[in-house]
Amino acid sequence: MLRRVLKGAGVLAAMLLVAVVALAYTWLPGKVMTSMNHLHPAQPGELPGDAAELHRELFVVDLHCDATLWSRDVLAEDTRGHVDIPRLIAGNVALQGFTAATRIPRSMNIDRTENKWDVLVPLTFFQGWPANTWNSPHARALYQAGLLHKAATASGGRFRLIRTQEDLEAYEAARSKTPKIAAGFLGIEGLHCLEGDLEKVRVLFDAGYRMMAPTHFFDNLIGGSAHGVEKYGLTEFGAAVIEFMEALNITVDLAHASPKVIDDTLAMVTRPVVVSHTGVRGPCDNNRNLTDDQLRAIAATGGVIGIGFWDTAVCGDDVAAIVAAIRHTADVVGIDHVGLGSDWDGATVTPFDAAGTGQLTAGLLAAGFSEAEIRKVMGENVRRVLRANLPPAALIAAEVPLPAA
Ligand SMILES: [Zn+2]
Repeated sequence: MLRRVLKGAGVLAAMLLVAVVALAYTWLPGKVMTSMNHLHPAQPGELPGDAAELHRELFVVDLHCDATLWSRDVLAEDTRGHVDIPRLIAGNVALQGFTAATRIPRSMNIDRTENKWDVLVPLTFFQGWPANTWNSPHARALYQAGLLHKAATASGGRFRLIRTQEDLEAYEAARSKTPKIAAGFLGIEGLHCLEGDLEKVRVLFDAGYRMMAPTHFFDNLIGGSAHGVEKYGLTEFGAAVIEFMEALNITVDLAHASPKVIDDTLAMVTRPVVVSHTGVRGPCDNNRNLTDDQLRAIAATGGVIGIGFWDTAVCGDDVAAIVAAIRHTADVVGIDHVGLGSDWDGATVTPFDAAGTGQLTAGLLAAGFSEAEIRKVMGENVRRVLRANLPPAALIAAEVPLPAA
């Protein structure tokens, strides 16, 4: 009798466990995603007519979002988070940078983050990602690239993944005839996902990655993070990685880099670099943001600084705060070196989502920026850098050698 009761209780406990895991699988990831990525409650109003008209004509490029971290179908319109293809099209965003985050320490903070307790272990597990991603940053990067490739294939032409100069040219030509389409390109924040293997730069390039930031929130084998413990410069391995990236026409992204990594990288690069998502210390002085000297050094490469839309980047939660950061950057380095780096879906609260991007055009107009200046900031500057840095299709087939040791 007792055995039967125990057996019954065991079965009940097992069923309960299955129910809890099933609930966690279906409910938890969405709950975490919406709690971390939403809009500021005070929403901007209707778009004024002149702003709406100008915005429709723009080629808008945003350098950075983390949409691939959340298991949502990017082809389906959603009200959760910030980015999906229907919202990019509704907001007239022509080109969106989709960046893979591949390891996130639990104590993540902008001043001193230790590389401990990776929250992506439970997040990948509960989102039902393949088992090889549960503990491998490299596998996570490849999986996220795969999500976008699949979306492009399944989109029926509504969404393209840009990998070459020719892809970008063909897309621009197609979009001038059919504006209701969108495109993306792949980036990575934190080359800890190379797992110490230089050859993996090529593997990630083959997977479509075209922009890479050496570090994310913690110091790694490539160099120190702005938010790391030691914040050291580029390592010898890191210098080889940068050299190989440039040989493969991968854009160097200095978001999250320590000041020493910024200096060391700028001393060796030959192409324009970007900072894909950042704030600037002028209007918003914290450890996440760039000094005026750093802005000048980045602009000197011909590159672009992508201004973020969230509170830590711009010290405010409205469109005016983003406009103030753009104003400061343009005043320091000129209008040709300012772009957008929303950090949508990057555990951020922003004043508008991809569908509401016209709000920024309205804010810039209201602040007195000219139409020509707005075109540059909203996308033409980044397009210029991508045209210069994207590989020609011929390079994809060529065997680019590893840098000499
Ligand atoms: Zn980031």
